[in-house]
Amino acid sequence: MSLSLVYYPDPRLREACAPVKTFDESLRRLAEGMLEVMAAKRGVGLAGPQVGVLRRIFVCNHTGEPGDAQIYVNPELTDLVGSVEADEGCLCVPGVYVPVRRAQRCAIRACDIEGRPIERAGENLLARIWQHEADHLEGVLILDRTSAVAKLAVRNTLRELEKTHRPVRARAPFSSRG
Ligand code: ZN
Repeated sequence: MSLSLVYYPDPRLREACAPVKTFDESLRRLAEGMLEVMAAKRGVGLAGPQVGVLRRIFVCNHTGEPGDAQIYVNPELTDLVGSVEADEGCLCVPGVYVPVRRAQRCAIRACDIEGRPIERAGENLLARIWQHEADHLEGVLILDRTSAVAKLAVRNTLRELEKTHRPVRARAPFSSRG
């Protein structure tokens, strides 16, 4: 499956995603494609909407080692404990790093790619990635989780992204621009 990243301010990054109901070959291909995009972009996590798929699925790999790649379908976070602030970036908001406060550890309940229930506990970076990706499934970005002051500091980068990636509008055929 050929997938490409969507970038802020693409409106697909602002949608709440629908649950996955069918665990089939196309879901498997989607997950494999997402793992490829994540690795190619050297990301630690990637959620459906980041490749324009508004489904409740994300992949992550907090070490970069192939054996640590994880796939979560219809995830729910529970038992959020503690509070740690750290700088976060997002593949869909390139060049922007802002401080975000997250729980230090949490548990995740989800389905694996076959639809079997899984439950894990994570802390520190792994718990942070889970929270970041779960936010994507609700249309929430790091920009919503940081301070007004931090947003002000990255406003020029955001403006550039808004210019470059503004939503595509229908273009009149044979425009007068020649
Ligand atoms: Zn992100």
